[in-house]
Amino acid sequence: MRKYVIMGVQGSGKGTQSEMLAAGLDIVHISVGDIFRWNVQNHTKMGALVRRVMAAGELVGDDLVESVVRDRLTQHDWNFGFIVDGFPRNRRQAEFFLESYDIDGVIDLDLPDSEVRRRVLSRRLCASCGINYNLLGSSPTVPGRCDACGGELVTREDDTEEALAVRLKDFHEKTNPVLDLFRRKEYVISVDARPPAEAVQAEIRQRLGLPPRSQPEPAPEPQTQADRSA
Ligand code: AMP
Repeated sequence: MRKYVIMGVQGSGKGTQSEMLAAGLDIVHISVGDIFRWNVQNHTKMGALVRRVMAAGELVGDDLVESVVRDRLTQHDWNFGFIVDGFPRNRRQAEFFLESYDIDGVIDLDLPDSEVRRRVLSRRLCASCGINYNLLGSSPTVPGRCDACGGELVTREDDTEEALAVRLKDFHEKTNPVLDLFRRKEYVISVDARPPAEAVQAEIRQRLGLPPRSQPEPAPEPQTQADRSA
C-alpha cells in the first residue's frame, strides 16, 4: 500500500505526474480540483456552491474540501494506495489529513512563477469530455477541437491573469507552510518541475525508491473528469 501527496503551484504538472505514477503503481489518482470541475460542468448542487470561488482563483472552504476528500477516500477503491493531488492546501487541511491517514511521501514539484504563468495561460480544457490540453506541448490535431470527441476547447475559468495572481499569492502564503509541516516529518522530496515530464517522473521514482517506469510503457490515457470523479 502506497499513499502519496503531490503538491506544487498551478501548471507544475501535478496531474500529469500523478497519472504517470498511478498508472505504473496501480494506485488511484485523486484530484480535488477535478472533482470540483466535474461538479461545475455537470451543474450539481456542489458545482453551484464552488463555481464562483473557483473562477476567482480562490480556495474553496475547508469544511467542504475535507468532506469531499473524506467521501472520496471512503470509497476504498484504492487497494494498492492513492496519490492525492491539490490537497492539502493549507495548515488546517494538512492537520486533518495527517490525523486520518499515514503518508509515505510528499512530492513537491518546484516551478518558478514566471514559468507557471507561461504554462497556465496555454492550458485548454474540452468543454464536452473534460480532457486537458496544453498548447505548448500537446496541441490538438484540429485547432480548438478535442482529438477524442471533437468538442470545443475552452480556457479553464480560473486560468486568467487575475485568477492566477490570486492563486500564486495563496500558494506562497498558505501552501508553502504546509510543506514546512510535512518537511518536519521528513516526508518531502522536492523535484525540479522544469524538465520534460518523463525526466521529472524518473526523478520522482528514484527519490522515492520506486522502480523506473517500465519501457515501453504507454503514456497514460488522459482521463476525463467523469472518470476521476466516479
Ligand atoms: P486545482 O485543479 O488543484 O488547481 O484546483 C482548482 C480549484 O479548485 C482551486 O483554485 C480551488 O478553488 C479549488 N480547490 C482544489 N483543491 C482545493 C483545496 N485543497 N482547498 C481549497 N480549494 C481547492
